[in-house]
Amino acid sequence: MYNIPSFIHIYGKGVITNPDLEKLLLYLKALLPESTIDVRTDFISYFLNQSDSEKINDEIDLLAEKLAGIRVLDYSKQKLNPDPLYAEIDYERRKILNPATKSIGVFYDSFELQNIFYAIISKGERTFSHTHIVFTNQLIAAWDEDDSRYHARSSVYGFPSIISTAGIIEAPAKPREFYLLKQQYGMMGREDLAVAEFKKKFEGRFIEYNDPRMTEVCKGYVLQAFFFHIAGEPFCEDKGCRLFNAHWQEELIYSQLESPYEFCEKHAMIIERKFQALITKQ
Ligand SMILES: [Zn+2]
Repeated sequence: MYNIPSFIHIYGKGVITNPDLEKLLLYLKALLPESTIDVRTDFISYFLNQSDSEKINDEIDLLAEKLAGIRVLDYSKQKLNPDPLYAEIDYERRKILNPATKSIGVFYDSFELQNIFYAIISKGERTFSHTHIVFTNQLIAAWDEDDSRYHARSSVYGFPSIISTAGIIEAPAKPREFYLLKQQYGMMGREDLAVAEFKKKFEGRFIEYNDPRMTEVCKGYVLQAFFFHIAGEPFCEDKGCRLFNAHWQEELIYSQLESPYEFCEKHAMIIERKFQALITKQ
């Protein structure tokens, strides 16, 4: 039995301009007419603004220290940043106060970030009738036991789910030629030329910063967050289904933009809530 959440909250208004969060809201509303769906400001500001003003400065300090502490400093080590420098904490503090400030390309441990975010959610909304989907322009990474290193991630699903717009660009791999070009030009200190040459050759086959396809691609990520919430499983094996877990940019573009169908048969049934009919039939 799938329990459709009564409330779905999308965070990032005022900070995230691409994807268009209002369009994502309309897309979800059409699929899930019984749920109340809203777009809220950036996640941290939304909940901090509910704190009483006496405590708010202490809360910001504490949060800044926690966030600085979960930076990934070395991809090959699971140890994070337990004793952050003052400048690192100060950067987080400024980012909390002005969430639209440009990010500096630091990676955060995705599961630790989820834990910190979970603790911020008001108690009344820490229930399964609420799905929280946080958009961030910061980079996240997850530790991989198999090869003992951190990998960039575009999303992490749970309570809340976090979708990184920078991660959508950086995490799914580009065609192999990109990495070869980068290496070749990198030796001459001209990685910029590698990117330029690659763009010419592979135009349209990967998602870039300010890409007009970002909203369409994010529909899939939002739905993966939703499926994690209702079924515990965000992904699908079908390469043409929006729930396909793309490891390559080309797979991402295929599943979200080029596939002739939106969902595989199984997920189409769930999303159209025909599963209720199936259950009663049994
Ligand atoms: Zn599917």
